[in-house]
Amino acid sequence: MTAPSARAAANPTPNDLESFWMPFTPNRAFKAAPRLIVGAEGLEYVTTDGRRVIDGTSGLWCCNAGHNRAPIVEAIRRQAGELDYAPPFQFGHPKAFEAASRIAALAPGDLDHVFFANSGSEAVDTALKIALAYQNVTGKGGRTRLIGRERGYHGVGFGGISVGGIVGNRKMYGTLLTGVDHLPTIYSREQQAFTKGEPEWGAHLADELERIVGLHDASTIAAVIVEPMAGSTGVLPSPKGYLQKLRAICDRYGILLIFDEVITGFGRLGFAFAAERYGVVPDILTFAKAVNSGTVPMGGAIVRKPVFDAFMQGPEGAIELPHGYTYSGHPLAAAAAVAALDLYRDEGLFERARALEPRWADAVMALKSLPGILDIRTVGLAAGIDLDPRPGAPGRRAYEVMVAAYEAGAMVRVTADTIALSPPLIVDDATIGRLTGILAGAIRKVG
Ligand code: PMP
Repeated sequence: MTAPSARAAANPTPNDLESFWMPFTPNRAFKAAPRLIVGAEGLEYVTTDGRRVIDGTSGLWCCNAGHNRAPIVEAIRRQAGELDYAPPFQFGHPKAFEAASRIAALAPGDLDHVFFANSGSEAVDTALKIALAYQNVTGKGGRTRLIGRERGYHGVGFGGISVGGIVGNRKMYGTLLTGVDHLPTIYSREQQAFTKGEPEWGAHLADELERIVGLHDASTIAAVIVEPMAGSTGVLPSPKGYLQKLRAICDRYGILLIFDEVITGFGRLGFAFAAERYGVVPDILTFAKAVNSGTVPMGGAIVRKPVFDAFMQGPEGAIELPHGYTYSGHPLAAAAAVAALDLYRDEGLFERARALEPRWADAVMALKSLPGILDIRTVGLAAGIDLDPRPGAPGRRAYEVMVAAYEAGAMVRVTADTIALSPPLIVDDATIGRLTGILAGAIRKVG
């Protein structure tokens, strides 16, 4: 094996791409026709061949402030020069504490303590472990069951895929966690097609939790985890009243409610957290991605005061929760988070997303007239567009649309036959017009 030359590294050929086993990617197809990004600025990516491509997906739902924003870049640079790393077990550094209090200040109700992880998947496993441990320390160790939802995505840890509801992500990995049950999906095309915002139909689906309680008994159930808006399975907002019902049932039976806000956190739905948009406070809330606008890996779980306090009753000097990561609250990630939260506040980006929502919804919904569109959903600055799949080739049409859009100058995301859009919150009317125009052209071209 020869080391790649500097020139090859800057402008890789397919040979240089061999060693990286790419995640959630058809490796052979990608390496035969790679799409490589070498730069970014604001609302655009720059490709290896020097083209500018509109970022229609905020990277992977994370770069909410847009790309290479000077205050965040500068904060990371400064932090790296001052303190590269400090252990988070038994030691600390100020930026992690600052980031935690800034994040907690944005969370609704008494969600006020932050446990740091490094990704959404770790945030979810942290939340599930805290829920189980909470039941334990409060003398309810029989509550071990976890409830997820069909079409839920909670990352790729064993906890996350166990409560998650995507068969393709589960079926290769054995029996997963035992004692897991699932609520039904909140999506029905028949009842909800072409809805802007929260569908009117579907609140009653939360009553399924009553059925699960009836089946297993509340004394066996620790927690329920849902995304307030399911992002990865096609942008599925909660129906009106659904989360309130879930909250009421959880309260009735002493079950903890976890919102997975890895996608919805930090402005995607026009609020710091979707919990605020829906007026429902969960017991634990997970975040990641946009906490520092996607710049340095970071995630975490925010817990309500009574949950935290329950752990603080044991002997002083004892570790209250045997859990944590080498990089929990990493200095670079924490510095980037403080800078990103400053930027969100100073530029009013959450409010901007809220103000743009009607125009965004109109622009995306206008694609309805294109051939072969089965449904379009919009909420906040996100949208899911379901394409009619080619017979016998699920996902193929959407994949081709994604490739055509990229070639024409826009990055969109594809899962199965759904195109997802989620531009940075700094997006403007003109860019929304260009993005939806390029996507329309790609859908027409692919046919
Ligand atoms: N939860 C949700 C709701 C997500 O959308 C994602 C990622 N899209 C995750 C968890 C996992 O995050 P990560 O990929 O950072 O592990």
